[in-house]
Amino acid sequence: MHTPPRPDVADMELPELEHALEALGHPRFHARQIFQWVYRRGITDFALMSDLGRELRAELAGAFTIGTPDVVRSERSEDGTAKFLLRLADGKQIESVFIPDTPSMTFCVSTQVGCAMKCGFCLTGKMGIDRNLTPGEIAGQVRVLARELGMLDARFNIVLMGMGEPLHNYDATMKALRILADEHGFAMSSRRITLSTVGVLPALERLATEPFMPNLAISLHATTEDQRDMLVPINRKYGLKELLDACRRFPLKRRERITFEYVLLRDVNDTPEDARRLVRLLNGIKGKVNLLPLNEAAGIPFERPSDDRVNRFARILSDHGMTVSVRKSRGRDIRAACGQLITESTRKAPGARLALLMER
Ligand code: SF4
Repeated sequence: MHTPPRPDVADMELPELEHALEALGHPRFHARQIFQWVYRRGITDFALMSDLGRELRAELAGAFTIGTPDVVRSERSEDGTAKFLLRLADGKQIESVFIPDTPSMTFCVSTQVGCAMKCGFCLTGKMGIDRNLTPGEIAGQVRVLARELGMLDARFNIVLMGMGEPLHNYDATMKALRILADEHGFAMSSRRITLSTVGVLPALERLATEPFMPNLAISLHATTEDQRDMLVPINRKYGLKELLDACRRFPLKRRERITFEYVLLRDVNDTPEDARRLVRLLNGIKGKVNLLPLNEAAGIPFERPSDDRVNRFARILSDHGMTVSVRKSRGRDIRAACGQLITESTRKAPGARLALLMER
């Protein structure tokens, strides 16, 4: 006889777990205890949850699972960046990265296996979309990194800048954020979470209405419609002008700003004219620009600009009063830098190399 899968606590917000426990005839407060074990102490074996009665622990183990990605491999860079290859329950693999001192501790997590957005400078985009991650798989990356790095009690930031487009997996992403925000778990403040998107406009409009709203980063990468059509193909559906109009409408609290990510590609989008156009495009938006000189990789048909060109671009922006930063590349010796994370596919032929995490 087919046994239905047990509900996964990792996919549940606290009220869901409370209802599930009530349905089994147990008080709701046990849900808070379970959340504390799972998120604050990194314990995923009910048998070890010592403040629950022995019979309850046994019953819970029979009634639920707590899905947690397995660490296949981790590598640490000389600069402290750590890259984790994680295996999901169905054998698919993803990568998550810990980036120290940026100036905070930051976990970069994925939201999909693959990506449908096909950005021209991104190897992940070339592989297409395999599947969405579940809320538990998204939040689970944070759990695993915090446990592995001994940071369950530490303060850290989360950036949804890994593999996948978060707004293309909207419901699971937002649910994962609510799980991470729960006061009985990691109690993440929305201020410590950044969601990076190429601009899936209907979902961006929806994000603007969320009660729990992360910081917003827009993967812009271009200053004309033609250029962006080529680099970020979703622009053919939701154009640059519409995207920036949506940014102008996006609700920001005092002192909040939208980050505009701009990957610099030599002789493609790194000219002084591009810099001046960028200034004009962002006029009137509370924003800052993060310049990302390309990390070259086999299969990416673009080159990294010289430091001189990067500095000239940055100087034009700052001379016009814009806040601009140039991202220092981290973890290049372990291929954990932006656009360099690749792993074996579990779906394709052995040896097929796939980009599993791209910076946008
Ligand atoms: S840059 Fe981001 S949105 Fe674009 S294809 Fe790569 S992972 Fe997807």
